[in-house]
Amino acid sequence: MLKRKRCQNKECGCLFVPCPQVPHQKFCSRKECQQARKREWNKKKLASDPEYREARKDAQKKWKDKNPDYWKDYRSRHSEYTAKNREQQRIRNLDRRKKRLVPMIVKTVESIPTNNALSGTYKIVPIHADMIVKTDECIVEITAISTG
Ligand SMILES: [Zn+2]
Repeated sequence: MLKRKRCQNKECGCLFVPCPQVPHQKFCSRKECQQARKREWNKKKLASDPEYREARKDAQKKWKDKNPDYWKDYRSRHSEYTAKNREQQRIRNLDRRKKRLVPMIVKTVESIPTNNALSGTYKIVPIHADMIVKTDECIVEITAISTG
């Protein structure tokens, strides 16, 4: 009689007959369970192997450089996803304010002149109390009229 094992995927837990080629098989062959197995392996590997972590970070950066508009496109194709994210962020911002931690996330200005001259080009980003501001940016030019 073939020995059966219990699938280690918590959502599954079915009894399965391990493949003879896989001596310590812990997950059944269902697609979801194999994905769970890979996720678990990846999680352990990330926690224990700094080189793997670095290599993965590197690969993700390369992919991002090759696909710079991926998330922008994704968001424009999935308006429900975007709306849900906005709502969740609104709730997180409210929580943050209640906890009196960092009041909000605001896109920062990349470069602020370090000298005292006021003349120059600045980016002005409106700040609303309960949301992350990313849109509604405008570029203005500020010219010093009097040096005081
Ligand atoms: Zn399973």
